[in-house]
Amino acid sequence: MSKPVASNKETPDSSAKRSKRGHRLVRFEQDGELKIGLELSDGGDVLDIRAIDPSIPQEMWLFMRQREYDNGKIDCLNEDQRAVVKRSDIRLKAPLDHPEKIICIGMNYADHCTEQNIPIPKEPVIFSKFASALQDPDEPIYLENTEELDFEVELGVVISKSCRKVEESEAMDYVMGYTVAHDVSARDWQLKRNGGQWLLGKSFDTFCPLGPCIVTKESISDPHNLGIRCRVNGVTVQESNTSQMVHKVPFLISYISKFLTLNSGDLILTGTPPGVGCFRKPPMWLKAGDVVECEIDQIGSIRNTVEIRPHLHAEKLDN
Ligand code: MG
Repeated sequence: MSKPVASNKETPDSSAKRSKRGHRLVRFEQDGELKIGLELSDGGDVLDIRAIDPSIPQEMWLFMRQREYDNGKIDCLNEDQRAVVKRSDIRLKAPLDHPEKIICIGMNYADHCTEQNIPIPKEPVIFSKFASALQDPDEPIYLENTEELDFEVELGVVISKSCRKVEESEAMDYVMGYTVAHDVSARDWQLKRNGGQWLLGKSFDTFCPLGPCIVTKESISDPHNLGIRCRVNGVTVQESNTSQMVHKVPFLISYISKFLTLNSGDLILTGTPPGVGCFRKPPMWLKAGDVVECEIDQIGSIRNTVEIRPHLHAEKLDN
């Protein structure tokens, strides 16, 4: 690629625009190489930002943890046509590569509590998933070791910088943006086995599809007024709005940070609306061949097919 010409020098004008213009941050694979970039529109071509500014780290976790991310600086990366990569030439990856923590909130939609006929929790119900559960936005969810595979669409919140004991009024300063998350669950292992601990039933490999991008917070006028839905084989099974969230994003960040330090790149899954398979009569479990699409307005959708895992015996891993 030719020598880039775009300047990253910040001007008073670009700084003033910082709070107004958002971006769609993506990780993608092109010719076997992993890169980070900006999706120019939902489902559109991608700007290879490192081709314009080689000082930008190649990996999202470094990009965030070195605090290279700055909306004004990204604004200055003009849409240099030499750095635009056609969508057909790339494959999107989960937009986070190495989150230190994936923190999940249970029973956090009022209509989901009504569905279960349980009281709305006064305090957030908190559990976690391992980062090894992350899956790319178009790759399979593996059906393995469970008879009760279930779906949960969720709004994911990405933390921009470290915080501890943050006030609710300042919590949004620590949000980088939002993504679509799928809290895939093995209900038999979550609720009936493993001594009542949720962790295992929430953390199988591929149990956290994520994407298609991180929409930076400047793009979302109100994260608590977004349509959220899940479709299985084209049929809508969950349909709600993030306005139904019991504990809102600033409160969740403030609450969690009382107990533990949140770090750059940490991910919070904010709970799921009603319609999940385990509360249906009869229950509806995902099966091989099912296509699950999770979608949130202003962010986009991820689409994962349920597959039997191809290797059922010990696999040799590269690392
Ligand atoms: Mg969940």
